[in-house]
Amino acid sequence: MGQINLNQVTKSFGDVQVIPPLDLQINEGEFVVFVGPSGCGKSTLLRLIAGLEDTTSGHINIDGKDATTLPPSKRGLAMVFQSYALYPHMSVRKNIAFPMRMAGLDEATQKAKIEAAAKALNLTDYLDRKPGQLSGGQRQRVAIGRAIVREPAAFLFDEPLSNLDAALRVGMRLEIMELHKKLETTMIYVTHDQVEAMTMADKIVVLQAGVIEQVGSPLELYHAPRNKFVAGFIGSPR
Ligand code: ADP
Ligand code: MG
Repeated sequence: MGQINLNQVTKSFGDVQVIPPLDLQINEGEFVVFVGPSGCGKSTLLRLIAGLEDTTSGHINIDGKDATTLPPSKRGLAMVFQSYALYPHMSVRKNIAFPMRMAGLDEATQKAKIEAAAKALNLTDYLDRKPGQLSGGQRQRVAIGRAIVREPAAFLFDEPLSNLDAALRVGMRLEIMELHKKLETTMIYVTHDQVEAMTMADKIVVLQAGVIEQVGSPLELYHAPRNKFVAGFIGSPR
């Protein structure tokens, strides 16, 4: 589960091609980080995988199935939005339950899954609070909880920590990495922050203007950057 292949995928907005033909393989259970400067196409690529944007050409395969034209709800993936996407008038419990209510799961199953997610995210004591009564980090955990209960084949994060202050960001990074260890589910994480990429990733995908400059582990990119852009961006001494 959570194996994603992009085959000659392109994306244009009007006449402007923001993603030239791109191939990428994401393996089961990997923590993959898309990194690159603002406007390089990270969000677009993630949204193509999620199905929130249609590909202009090419194919997206998820777990052996052609998912190119499937709507987001049929792809088995969960996009984690920034915490401000929570419903302010609903309790944490109801926020986490929301996707399960939409899917029509029975109450007992919902309750069990909410409790398991809350435990994994240290939110057990906060289930009856409203988002406004939580810290930024706790709110972000609720947003992740809402994704967990769907038991997705992969989690897709788009700069989930960019609203948090620096200290909190470091803590949340560790929490997301711990969660990845616990769940062993594929995670794709978009950031423009090199430190985040280098500390979190199994595999880093470096993008520039919609083109993959290099794919590799943090050590590979550091010790053997393919070009000056990668070296400069990653902060490699070469
Ligand atoms: P990143 O997430 O790396 O900052 P984006 O994927 O948001 O970059 O954007 C990549 C490029 O595509 C940018 O030039 C951006 O202006 C353009 N773009 C993104 N979404 C749209 C859209 N809906 N319509 C037109 N252009 C878009
Ligand atoms: Mg973006």
